[in-house]
Amino acid sequence: SRPASWRERLAGSALARSLGGLIRRETPIDANLLDDIETCLLTADVGVAASEEVMAELRRAVDRKAITSAAALVEHLRAKLVSMLQGVSSPLNIESGQKPFVILTVGVNGVGKTTTIGKLARRFADERKSVILAAGDTFRAAAVEQLQQWGERNQVPVIAQGQGADSAAVIFNAMQAAQSRQADILIADTAGRLHTQAGLMDELAKVKRVLGKLDAGAPHEVLLVIDGTTGQNAVHQVRQFSKAVAVTGLVVTKLDGSAKGGVIFALAREFGIPIRFVGLGEKVHDLRSFDADAFVGALLP
Ligand code: GDP
Repeated sequence: SRPASWRERLAGSALARSLGGLIRRETPIDANLLDDIETCLLTADVGVAASEEVMAELRRAVDRKAITSAAALVEHLRAKLVSMLQGVSSPLNIESGQKPFVILTVGVNGVGKTTTIGKLARRFADERKSVILAAGDTFRAAAVEQLQQWGERNQVPVIAQGQGADSAAVIFNAMQAAQSRQADILIADTAGRLHTQAGLMDELAKVKRVLGKLDAGAPHEVLLVIDGTTGQNAVHQVRQFSKAVAVTGLVVTKLDGSAKGGVIFALAREFGIPIRFVGLGEKVHDLRSFDADAFVGALLP
């Protein structure tokens, strides 16, 4: 079956619904409308700074009579929103000759980290790449089991030890296995505990250290998974994880359904970290390479 379009997936988001309700063909372009759009951006988690940037641009364009119709307003909004995401639109490139290409996945519990790893593995396997998974979230038994079950269903090897095992040791073993089997890609899960910043830093530093013993360049990508429904808390999580490890890419999940949809703009403006993928649903093909045009287009009426 055909994968759902971005518009279908994002239609339920607060941003798409409220912009669609506000901007209709006959809507007069006036200060009230602009105020309503600003409120709608703020309510949808776009964040104060990013919303102000968008509104300044729209107000200038209205003042100089460059926007006199709803259609022109949508076009200006589209151009501005896309331009704000330009700097973070950079797909993950794994054709760099690293073998295995090591992806370390980090993020707090419940954001969709395990699901994302499964979807990614499947995507790479579909591209005829050999993938090995490391069940490095040893803190939760359920996380190890979930990854193992997923690996069995999809015939992707999963290197795991029991709950409570040392995460760095599991990832080290998996890296050795990936090297000896000449796998193309290793995706390592990590424990999503954020309750002590020091613990998180120590753990991730140790993982990097042991990987570095086997390949000085590893990890080649540190993917931070963020739940798109958590609003400004997402900004806090990126800040916390960035203190512990050099995050090189973001995955923003759960943008389908009733997500607010605006947090990507806040993240882009605040951090400039590439958004590699977005989660638009629970199925395998719902993990999409981030595409700013498709994303913004789906939010606008
Ligand atoms: P983890 O604790 O971070 O490993 O989270 P899980 O991978 O177990 O995911 C938590 C829940 O979020 C599961 O029910 C997933 O199916 C769901 N989930 C993950 N990604 C998405 C997404 O993009 N959209 C939706 N709607 N649900 C998602």
